[in-house]
Amino acid sequence: MKIKDLRVAFKKSLSEIYEAEESMSFFYLLSEKILGLRRVDVALDLEKEVSASEIVQFNEAKTRLLDQEPIQYIIGHTYFYGLSFIVNKNVLIPRPETEELVDWILKDQENLENAIKILDIGTGSGCIAIALAKNLPNAKVYAMDISEQAIEIAKVNAIKNEVKVEFINEDVLASEHLFQDFDIIVSNPPYVRELEKDEIKPNVLDNEPHQALFVSDHDPLIFYKKITKLAKGRLTQTGSLYFEINQYLGSETYKMIKSLGFSAVALRKDLHNNERMIRA
Ligand code: GLN
Repeated sequence: MKIKDLRVAFKKSLSEIYEAEESMSFFYLLSEKILGLRRVDVALDLEKEVSASEIVQFNEAKTRLLDQEPIQYIIGHTYFYGLSFIVNKNVLIPRPETEELVDWILKDQENLENAIKILDIGTGSGCIAIALAKNLPNAKVYAMDISEQAIEIAKVNAIKNEVKVEFINEDVLASEHLFQDFDIIVSNPPYVRELEKDEIKPNVLDNEPHQALFVSDHDPLIFYKKITKLAKGRLTQTGSLYFEINQYLGSETYKMIKSLGFSAVALRKDLHNNERMIRA
């Protein structure tokens, strides 16, 4: 079968649930993975024959896409802040909103060469910690996660991106204190309430780790409270705490952090105009 015919068939078979443009971008991502061909190579060589085993791989991917599995899990990687990250079902797929959080932190740095200490709590794929380590070459970066499987992926991602990050497999809710002072403590903890489950798309709900997404309706700020308390007294004089937050809980999160004694607290909206980040 020629690649051009495979492309037509692929798009057609996904048309029930995906827009043509989206199916095409899946096709090119899969071509890179399965055939080792970049988009431009495919476009330049439409007559190329695809082998039977390659067609089987495209079909397997197609079945998973029809089953609403995210393309990032199918191809096994994604991009975050210009870096490549391995992802599987044990870690949340890094989101563009979280890139905005990283951007905020980096823009706040007066000198990117400073030897600061950073802690990322609930690191998942390691995306925040690794993006910071990459852009702050003299920083000492630590990253914590309750999930051993997530830490395994994050370690591979640190090696892949050639940065040194110290990983800690620990449940922050069970941590009594932080082991040292930090200049930056950052976290994108689980923040989706059960009552917001209906807003979560099936591809997320059926595939991504619920432990990384959901928090109880009864105490949706549990991670924020715990981390803010741990951060108190463990942030350096000029240090800052950064969180990604639930867009519906901006003012509650703001008030809670203030009530714990932080004076300069700032909320920030993401590109979709939702209150998504906070700095204290
Ligand atoms: N923003 C993510 C989502 O909507 C949730 C991330 C999180 O819970 N920390 O899927």
